[in-house]
Amino acid sequence: MAKTTKRGKIVIDRERCKGCHLCIEVCPNNRIEVDDELNKKGYSPARFKETVNEGEKGCTGCAQCATVCPDVAIEVYRAK
Ligand code: SF4
Ligand code: SF4
Repeated sequence: MAKTTKRGKIVIDRERCKGCHLCIEVCPNNRIEVDDELNKKGYSPARFKETVNEGEKGCTGCAQCATVCPDVAIEVYRAK
């Protein structure tokens, strides 16, 4: 129902990501986490949390993560 309605999503290019985790700090809905698996450059990249659990807010497509990312590794998609 409404609580799990997603209005946006992001795609993170994990190989482009340098693991600064600024996006994790900036996301107002806590939709991004650290991926334990290193990328080819040896960084721990950011990962989008696809699953929206009860009581959590989904991604709104606000694009704050993409704006803050110094490596332009995040693309934002907004649902109509
Ligand atoms: S802000 Fe960009 S480079 Fe930094 S962790 Fe997030 S996706 Fe990776
Ligand atoms: S678009 Fe906004 S809500 Fe979605 S992951 Fe990025 S900062 Fe979080």
